[in-house]
Amino acid sequence: MSDLYAVFGNPIAHSKSPAIHAAFAASAGQEMVYEARLAPVDGFPQAVAEFVATGGKGANVTVPFKEEAFRLATRLSERAARAGAVNTLAFNGAEIFGDNTDGAGLVHDITHNLGYSLGGRRVLLLGAGGASRGVIAPLLAEKPISLFIANRSADKAVLLAAAFSDVEPVNAGSFADLAGKCFDLVINATSASLAGASLPLPPGIFAPGALAYDMMYGKGETLFLQLAREQGAARGADGLGMLVEQAAEAFFVWRGVRPPTTPVLADLRAQLAG
Ligand code: NDP
Repeated sequence: MSDLYAVFGNPIAHSKSPAIHAAFAASAGQEMVYEARLAPVDGFPQAVAEFVATGGKGANVTVPFKEEAFRLATRLSERAARAGAVNTLAFNGAEIFGDNTDGAGLVHDITHNLGYSLGGRRVLLLGAGGASRGVIAPLLAEKPISLFIANRSADKAVLLAAAFSDVEPVNAGSFADLAGKCFDLVINATSASLAGASLPLPPGIFAPGALAYDMMYGKGETLFLQLAREQGAARGADGLGMLVEQAAEAFFVWRGVRPPTTPVLADLRAQLAG
């Protein structure tokens, strides 16, 4: 019988994870089944318990359950403990291992797929929610020269920066505090585009040659990437690569095999364009 995996979320119907992991399993020659499971908003632990009871070996976790998955885990990876959120669970007897592969996925996409090294760069991270928190330690591990976190609610950005001050100095503030500052890489980790909102970024924040990276993805250019292009960003990339790379990292956690990501990303890109 094939090993069973799933992604839990609410909503979950439009998740691309089952297609991504089916492609990974086929190319890596792994016998496994991966399903999308809708968990009730107030019933995540029960849904996971039922899944484990029916033989589930591992799971991905998406909105709104990443913090609950963090609390459910009986053992955490260091990066999950830092992130305060879990997107990957592995079940082994009574143990629930919690990991967070979002940051590794982002860094892999930027450094390998986009060929943009982070060492010595001035990095701006927009947003102070779960996605932002999950990528800070992996970004700092690449040794940028500075990291600034800007958020609509500036106090949240300041708190988040303080939580990483033992790793590297991180500065933080509001969008208005960005006036007069300049960055080599600007990452959008806000959900502003979901509400069709544009970010109030002061002009001049993109240094010559700057890369704008939007964790969001969709058909065509995202609102943030459009704004970045208009404000002088030299390059733009959306979060489809991050999605595929965080999945590959989760696949590695479960199966000990790193699947090829390039063809999967190309297929998803073609589907989005079609
Ligand atoms: P959260 O709800 O935890 O955080 C949302 C963040 O967006 C907060 O910082 C919030 O600011 C900010 N925000 C929301 N609306 C606006 C607005 N109108 N103007 C300015 N700021 C706004 O969400 P997540 O951190 O979990 O997710 C953020 C984004 O990252 C989502 O779009 C998600 O789809 C994407 N993502 C992509 C992944 C990928 O693999 N590509 C993986 C994970 C996430 P405030 O604190 O002021 O409310």
